[in-house]
Amino acid sequence: MDKKPLELEQAIDLLLRHTPSPAPAFEAVGLLDALGRVCARDIRAAVAQPPFDRSPLDGYALRSADLKEASADKPALLQVSMRIYAGDHPREELLPGQAARIMTGAPIPAGADCVVAQEIVRDQNGQLQVFKPLSKYANYVFAGEDIPKDQLILEAGQVLDYAALGVLAGQGLTEVEVYPKPSIGIFSTGSELALPEEPLPPGKIYDSNCTMLAARIIMGGGRPVMLQQVADDPAKLTAAAAGLLEQYPLVITTGGVSVGEKDYMPLVAAQMGAEVLFHGLALKPGSPALACRCGNSLLLSLSGNPFAAAATFELLGMPLLRKLGGHRQILPRRVEAFLAGDFQKTSPNRRLLRARLEGNRVFPPQGQASGTLGSFIGCNCLIDIPAGSPILERGTPVDVIIMIE
Ligand code: AMP
Ligand code: MG
Repeated sequence: MDKKPLELEQAIDLLLRHTPSPAPAFEAVGLLDALGRVCARDIRAAVAQPPFDRSPLDGYALRSADLKEASADKPALLQVSMRIYAGDHPREELLPGQAARIMTGAPIPAGADCVVAQEIVRDQNGQLQVFKPLSKYANYVFAGEDIPKDQLILEAGQVLDYAALGVLAGQGLTEVEVYPKPSIGIFSTGSELALPEEPLPPGKIYDSNCTMLAARIIMGGGRPVMLQQVADDPAKLTAAAAGLLEQYPLVITTGGVSVGEKDYMPLVAAQMGAEVLFHGLALKPGSPALACRCGNSLLLSLSGNPFAAAATFELLGMPLLRKLGGHRQILPRRVEAFLAGDFQKTSPNRRLLRARLEGNRVFPPQGQASGTLGSFIGCNCLIDIPAGSPILERGTPVDVIIMIE
């Protein structure tokens, strides 16, 4: 490796500085197709929510001034002068001494300033007895109480969750503008990689990385464009990388990036005339990562060890994907949690462990080798152990990087 290993934060910074903002092209999609997509424009409420003052319960709309003297012994007596159902539009004003029979969601008539629940009154053939006073605006839902007209309801860059879709539907909308999904080129390298579904020749393995990282790209709102795995052959690797870099803003490769005799990705970068941003991270696993710029696109070449590839893609690749996709929240959330099991190794270098966060406790599984993937199943976070850390006992507070919320 030709350069001093870079700190992770500097590497992320450098990559983000060279990542273009999302293209100002928006696509309008149906609300259900927008689930999990990134809102591309600020959206203000075109209608107040609710649009009119309404009753939150089944009962009677009244004037609170009529109930001032009401008591269990001496109920206020009111005449039921109108009936208002959900969907009605009452035109008449409620006068002193009158009550309106009203159902949940129905508009409160002019003149009324509170609603009493039907369970605590007596209605005898249109004469209503109310046994206690009510304060002004008791059980009264104001127009715009949920969302005032013109209020900003969503900002560009927010992920549309199901509540957001409900709010948009409540505005009478059927479509919303979202950022296009960024397409990310991806391929695995290594002459040991066999084709799936074919019998495994001796000395070969099937490719885990491409599918794993493609799945993560989909989870991050991107569209993976996968090539078949490429052997450790500089000409083939260069052709594959150059082809993808011409079309996509970000290309991810795994394998062949370290100091082995057939680790050709640094040579590939040189052959393409790419500008190397960094080669080598002060981090385990994944230290050999190589990033370079080729025209307006970025090539991120990660270690072939599956967990190393996953962890470095999480920390370096996902922020780029989120930026390209228009997300506001680009960096992963970090929390402090307590180790639920010990970690019996010292960490001379900064180290990442796979783990599962539950509440404020974090469980690292036993197998942590960078070449293993089995124990990664079900993990939802990485533990970030600083360089120079001793053996970590159970209960030690650690810094956790959330992968999956
Ligand atoms: P490399 O980064 O090329 O030195 O590979 C490091 C280790 O990861 C080796 O044991 C490789 O066989 C393994 N490896 C490389 N690529 C993949 C892949 N796509 N899927 C699974 N294992 C891989
Ligand atoms: Mg290799």
